[in-house]
Amino acid sequence: MEYHFERQEITGDRVLFSLSLDKKSGKERILIGTETEIIKRLWGDSDAKIYYDEVNPIGTLFINKRQDGTDWTDRGFMPLWNALHTTRWKQPELERSAASFCTDMYQSGDPFAIYTAIRLWGGYLRAREPRDRNQAAELFRLDLMGLISPMEKYSPDELLDRSITDVIRKTGDEMKMDVWYPARTDLECVTAYRSFLPVIMYYHARLADWSLHFRTCKVCGKVFLAKSQKYAMCSDKCRQKMKTQAKRDFDARAIENEYDHIYKNEAQHWLHYIHRMEKDPECTPERIAKIRYAYEVFKKEAKKRKTAVKTGQSSVSEFRDWTLRQLENAML
Ligand SMILES: [Zn+2]
Repeated sequence: MEYHFERQEITGDRVLFSLSLDKKSGKERILIGTETEIIKRLWGDSDAKIYYDEVNPIGTLFINKRQDGTDWTDRGFMPLWNALHTTRWKQPELERSAASFCTDMYQSGDPFAIYTAIRLWGGYLRAREPRDRNQAAELFRLDLMGLISPMEKYSPDELLDRSITDVIRKTGDEMKMDVWYPARTDLECVTAYRSFLPVIMYYHARLADWSLHFRTCKVCGKVFLAKSQKYAMCSDKCRQKMKTQAKRDFDARAIENEYDHIYKNEAQHWLHYIHRMEKDPECTPERIAKIRYAYEVFKKEAKKRKTAVKTGQSSVSEFRDWTLRQLENAML
């Protein structure tokens, strides 16, 4: 069912945000609607008046929503709060501004935003009824702040990392957890009305019970739910990528070791040869200087050629052939 952000008759039924987790199937289900309609839907009534009903793999609620900089107070709440304090001529414009923001949030696909938009609008409609506008506006503020303020201060994953008392101290909000066992179902649902904190904390507790952890994939950077803190990759695809990269690194290192070995061996031969010449009384200083110079040239050129092998412009065997010829050439 579509929610319309316009003036409409208000009903007494509260719209709830309901979450149930199924460990066996590894799914989360989120429903937004009144208690009566949620129950109808849970019993399989596809005509139940539900604003949102999605089944996703466990963790999706948080994985899809890591950050939120939405300015609910200024763009959603304040225009409506001002509308409650102004003349009725000025109300429509303020309402239009908030309605357009709420519609955007409603269409965002994010259940947190969808629910907050519906609650914001419904709260405003209720606050328009009493004669004492100041008191109604204050009740409207109290009704909505618990939903809005933690969302503005923290992203849901930040909330997951904090203790309940810490969040309550920081936001000034209170919290009550409603766990609900709808009749004729095997479900355990937790519902949110004044605040999402119960749902978030409940989720947190269940994940901890089932030893599931949010991790960030080392390869693609995606957040995923893992059975152990040790898991570093999100999927077989990323694990394969990591393996391929590791093998490439290993091969590169093996090649590096090989040409380094060839070079070091040959450099030893050069040094031995120079040493022998220096000890030989028949060897002239000119010849010694010449061979020393040739050795310096060899070292310089070998360095360039090693880089060429490293970058794939040359091969190890090419390097070997060249390296082993140089001393011989210098001796001639
Ligand atoms: Zn990945």
